Amino acid sequence: MDGETNALRFRVGLVECVAISDGSFTYPTANFFPGAPPAALAQAFGAAGVPEQIISPYTCLAIEAEGRWVLLDTGAAGMGPTTGHLRTNLETAGIRGSDIATVILTHAHPDHIGGVIGDDGQLSFPEAQLYMTKQEWDFWSEPDLLSRLPRHLPEVARERQTRTFQSRLPALRGKVTLIESETEVARGIRVLLAPGHTPGHAIVELTSGHESLLYISDILLHPIHMTHPEWHPVYDMDREAAEKTRCHVLGRTTSEGMLVSAFHFRFPGLGHTRSTGRTWSWEPVV
Ligand SMILES: [Zn+2]
Repeated sequence: MDGETNALRFRVGLVECVAISDGSFTYPTANFFPGAPPAALAQAFGAAGVPEQIISPYTCLAIEAEGRWVLLDTGAAGMGPTTGHLRTNLETAGIRGSDIATVILTHAHPDHIGGVIGDDGQLSFPEAQLYMTKQEWDFWSEPDLLSRLPRHLPEVARERQTRTFQSRLPALRGKVTLIESETEVARGIRVLLAPGHTPGHAIVELTSGHESLLYISDILLHPIHMTHPEWHPVYDMDREAAEKTRCHVLGRTTSEGMLVSAFHFRFPGLGHTRSTGRTWSWEPVV
């Protein structure tokens, strides 16, 4: 463990990885489980009771590749003092900005692209090759973005999402490699399409020897979404597609015994998924 609980080094096969905290942000519980029957929600939370708010961690992942690093997502710089600590925590873990050769932006939500630029408006990792899916880029870079966001999304989120992407757009334009299908961006590191949460949402698979990890980004926002994949968070843009993708990914991580890196789960967000019959459960790696 580096520092307190802000960076955790581990290996997948022969490859070194570091789970890096960017911070956390507080959400109304209702936004994570809208439409969940109160009795079932109470049962899902158990003895601790249903909280009014959920403090959702933001944990990025750095993967070593040929002496440099591939960074998955950039955290939420710009969303307030509880976020935006990625750069500091990377440096504490011994990874300088110039060591980042590749940045994969899994989707364009503020907690994943916020840190792509610094306070000066310039790219945080100017030497890095940036990747995003073309589907994601095309959706967010339309000028009438605000009107394209789904109506079930709360106003505050619509406004924040629009403002965050549009403020990063000038720095990103022409700098992002857009991918349209499954792509290997470095040896053993593949970007896979997993749409639903956003139109071009991506996840990242790492394979080394007989071991594999799946960075699932926002396929799941909370472990309860494993037990109840149908309780779509309001942040899922296409709820039907998101649920389908969620179930497909969980089926795969479970059957293949993959290590899972979940951006919004309790730090370090690492664990395995287990089948409970019709749905799944989470076994964190402690
Ligand atoms: Zn997120």
